[in-house]
Amino acid sequence: MVSQWSRVLFILALAGTMMVLERQAPGGDTPPADPGAPFADKARQYFTAKELARGRAYARGRYLLYGVRTALTLGFFGLLALSPLSATIRDFSVSVAGGRVWLTIGVFGLVLACLYHLVTFPVSLYGGFIREHTFGLSRQTFGAWAWDYTKGALINAVILLPLLMLLYSCIRWDSIRWYLPVWVVVILVGSLLAELSPILLDPLFHTFRPVQDAGLVQRLRALTDRAGVSVGPILEIDASRKTTKTNAYFTGLGRSRRIVLFDTLITTSTPEEVELVVAHELGHWRRHHIWKGMAISAVSSLAALWLIARLLYAAAESGRFGFVHPADPVSLPLLLLLFLALTAVTTPIQMAISRAFEREADLESLRLSDNPKAFIASEVALARSNLSDVDPPRVIVWLLYTHPPILERIAMAEAFQSAQGQ
Ligand SMILES: [Zn+2]
Repeated sequence: MVSQWSRVLFILALAGTMMVLERQAPGGDTPPADPGAPFADKARQYFTAKELARGRAYARGRYLLYGVRTALTLGFFGLLALSPLSATIRDFSVSVAGGRVWLTIGVFGLVLACLYHLVTFPVSLYGGFIREHTFGLSRQTFGAWAWDYTKGALINAVILLPLLMLLYSCIRWDSIRWYLPVWVVVILVGSLLAELSPILLDPLFHTFRPVQDAGLVQRLRALTDRAGVSVGPILEIDASRKTTKTNAYFTGLGRSRRIVLFDTLITTSTPEEVELVVAHELGHWRRHHIWKGMAISAVSSLAALWLIARLLYAAAESGRFGFVHPADPVSLPLLLLLFLALTAVTTPIQMAISRAFEREADLESLRLSDNPKAFIASEVALARSNLSDVDPPRVIVWLLYTHPPILERIAMAEAFQSAQGQ
């Protein structure tokens, strides 16, 4: 049994970490350039009333959809974990697998995945396709969208089902200490995917090619030299086939690391604005965010797996969930429910860490480019093309925002600018 105290301590430790991070984050306590001006006035300085209303309408619907999806997911696994339905799926899986223990859990996982997709498909269709068209953001036909959706589900199945079989063979090996080998596998697979997905998986959804504009490439290479970061290829993807949104990201470890720009970003931005976006990505590298992120997830996944192993064992002992040994496939919905609940509880911490990293990258990009005007222009352009909620409710930022809200980012650039002027 896990004592009540160890659970409370775990949550408190995570909450404490989050508060420290929020305080230490550079720019975290940077006041807006003019602290007297409320954010609403600042918003109107950069955006029209129509832009603000549209961004708000788009984003707030997304918050609602996020809530609906979370409730559906928790409800789905909760229902399975607490009803005899899980035992029915287990019996079906045993007969399909012909009594082969290792295959039974594979079949069970596949049935669960199909049911889950069935339950959440309407939300995916509405949020990912219908709504994107309503707001004029998507350029995909229904067929193209459905094909992307199918590919995503198939890739997940190919990666996750063997891992699931491995997980349950570890639980069969030791009903408590299974979390140790599973933790090692999670880290290995995570690193392998980070290294390989830019080369193997991403091309399944987009076409990549080197950035074509020679002047822009020269400019960006000069920037990477100045930053002292060796970058692999600088690529553009044909995002415009699917969306009007703009974005850029860095990806990969070691040899596969690269900067990827949406072609929509290149065609709608000035070279100075693209430079700022790339400077932000370089900021992530200079601050070693990939490695830090991996270290954080290594520690937190060990803690999470340990806790789940303990709780699952206690659930089996209690006999209240339809299984008496954690290796019984019937335990899978409860295992996933525990994982989801833990993720939900720790999401604010993950988001706070992510926002701290993003603030650091923003600050690095300002130092690298020394061009706060272009920084603000690129933030405004990103917000317009992506229909951002520039000043979302605090609680939503806390729960969902991987990046600081746009007005906060602009305020940081303004503070940088006025510090320069002094
Ligand atoms: Zn970033």
